[in-house]
Amino acid sequence: MYQGTVYLVGAGPGDPELLTVKAARVLETADVVLHDALVGDDVVDRYADATERIDVGKDPNGERTTQEEINRLMVRKAREGNDVVRLKGGDPTVFGRGGEEAEHLAREGIPFEVVPGVTSAIAAPEVAGIPVTHREHASSLTVVTGHEDPTKDESAIDWSALADCVVAGGTLVVLMGVGRMADNARALREHGVPAETPAAVVEQATCDEEFTVTGTVGTIAERSGEVGVEPPAATVFGDVVGVRDQVVDCLEGATAARAGPWNATASDRGSE
Ligand code: SAH
Repeated sequence: MYQGTVYLVGAGPGDPELLTVKAARVLETADVVLHDALVGDDVVDRYADATERIDVGKDPNGERTTQEEINRLMVRKAREGNDVVRLKGGDPTVFGRGGEEAEHLAREGIPFEVVPGVTSAIAAPEVAGIPVTHREHASSLTVVTGHEDPTKDESAIDWSALADCVVAGGTLVVLMGVGRMADNARALREHGVPAETPAAVVEQATCDEEFTVTGTVGTIAERSGEVGVEPPAATVFGDVVGVRDQVVDCLEGATAARAGPWNATASDRGSE
């Protein structure tokens, strides 16, 4: 019997045009698409109408599908002879469990291919006018999850090391960090990052609802709270955030047209 292949595919940060040509091709020919909640309907609708579509972000009761269930489903569908696309937001291996799924497929002997995607860790700052590296401002990029409690002793994240990266002129991008933004910014300050270091939050980058808030390590959490920033959003700390001021007046095209007000305040947002 025909053994299907599983494609671990990145859908990019939201704009369907940021899907790669290869991702679009495998989506068009897939028999089954298992997609996360973060992947917008416009992406899935555009490329996957002739296929079985399963939203593994939630099950019919509104509960999140467990990783074990997703793993089992991928294997079962492939063994039944289907080419399966496992579609994830951004890039499949940047906080996307693509690595775990690849290990599972390998253990089960299922042939698979990885199709990289445009990660929000880079795209979100970029479309807001913030280059993650810049010869004059930053020679390194660190991407971290902001989800963990930085005050917990057993935190796997070394905020002292992250602070050192920023102090040394590097760029720090925090994903999944909206809920803990105040704690994380405080942790950076406590470990030596000056309060006036520039910071920005980009919500729903590349989507119609895109919105950017700027401030500093000292102010960004409060400003985001005032404006009501919600996930998904990427937070950027570092001198590169200042580049935005140099380019924003001429940052045109689809992105600028879709973007919310720059240097947003609560009243800007309220009037949207
Ligand atoms: N694999 C994804 C990241 C998954 S973790 C990638 O490579 O982009 C989910 C987090 O990604 C969100 O909490 C948010 O921090 C970030 N994110 C995803 N899409 C985003 C978007 N359009 N704009 C801003 N941040 C986004």
